[in-house]
Amino acid sequence: MEINAFTGEFADRTTEAAFLAYKLPQTRALLGFTLASCGLFFLFFFATDLASVHSGPTLTLLFFGRLTAALTAGVCSWLAYRRSLQVAATRWLASISKVVVFGCFMLVSMLRPHEYHWHAMSMSVMLSAAYLYIPNRLAYAVALSLGATALFTAMAREFYEIHPADSLTMSMLLLLANVFGALAARRFNIVSREEYRAHTVFKHAAERDHLTGCHNRRYLHEHLMGPGREALPGRAHRLAVLLCDIDHFKQINDTYGHADGDAVLRAFAVLLRERIRSPEATVVRYGGEEFLAVLPGMDLDGGVRLAEQLRATFAAMQTPSADGALMLRTTASFGVAATDLPQGAGPTTLRDLISAADKLMYQAKRNGRDRVEALQLAR
Ligand code: GH3
Ligand code: MG
Ligand code: MG
Repeated sequence: MEINAFTGEFADRTTEAAFLAYKLPQTRALLGFTLASCGLFFLFFFATDLASVHSGPTLTLLFFGRLTAALTAGVCSWLAYRRSLQVAATRWLASISKVVVFGCFMLVSMLRPHEYHWHAMSMSVMLSAAYLYIPNRLAYAVALSLGATALFTAMAREFYEIHPADSLTMSMLLLLANVFGALAARRFNIVSREEYRAHTVFKHAAERDHLTGCHNRRYLHEHLMGPGREALPGRAHRLAVLLCDIDHFKQINDTYGHADGDAVLRAFAVLLRERIRSPEATVVRYGGEEFLAVLPGMDLDGGVRLAEQLRATFAAMQTPSADGALMLRTTASFGVAATDLPQGAGPTTLRDLISAADKLMYQAKRNGRDRVEALQLAR
């Protein structure tokens, strides 16, 4: 999860996309709030036009300029608060509102040429909002802000009666506002991505088993069985549960040592995760050498076929010992329980299935190990 030192964004596009998706609600809220306030302030500042211009066509133009900016910001703000917007759309809104608001501001400052110092001040306030409060890619923010600054300085030379020394001071100050705005935006990018990086590490540590990489019991309870949780991802009508336990695993530990036991556990987990690839399925390390697969959408036949494949593959598999000197072999026993789901089936159904699969797995042990026992549960 490397961060680009120049832009403060993740170097890897997939990670950056995942980060932006994670931040989307915050981005939309910030965009919505900032644009709503910008729109209102732009409109309130019509009071300064009244005080400065009094009446006539200039005042009307000023009013329409401000109204256009306020309306654009208002509409973009309203859209940003809508839930369906995706990352690309929020960036479009940010860029469009910046272009329109900067454009209207140029019009206002052109129509009131005697107050260039106030305009320059407003410009630096707008630049900080553009860099820090209207979320966008840093490259877009820099391009739009520098473009607006260049236009404003060129306009000042053209329309304002401004001494060349003052014009130079103003340009340099605005350039400085751009530099500090871009630096602060880059810093903010880095800090929020570092925070996300820490969040993903903690989330992974909290939800996964360190040795095998499978989900842990906490994940099972919080995400699939917790109170008020939907037991099943998607809208499956069937659910199968597979519980398996490595046979005579203690003997491996006792004979070869725990490091070799760990190697067998990891190999078994890799096999399970390779064969159970559906995005809706979950593989949990249920106990020491017990694993649970929750398989939404799968019926009993599918569950038994899967368990038989896993059983046969594992029985034929040779796992290299930790030092690579030996090849280890063992078997596993499986319990499979499945049910058709009533509407709105919740954690209780899953709990019943796990309990049934557990009993079936022990039945497989009693019946000689290296086998699959299965049962269809009534709805
Ligand atoms: P059965 O065929 O009846 O399942 O017998 P078993 O030996 O597999 O089962 P038993 O419950 O007697 O032993 C399980 C062993 O798994 C005991 C425990 O030390 C070991 N174990 C649990 N967690 C780990 C682990 O993370 N690493 C290693 N190496 N061993 C573990
Ligand atoms: Mg065992
Ligand atoms: Mg066991």
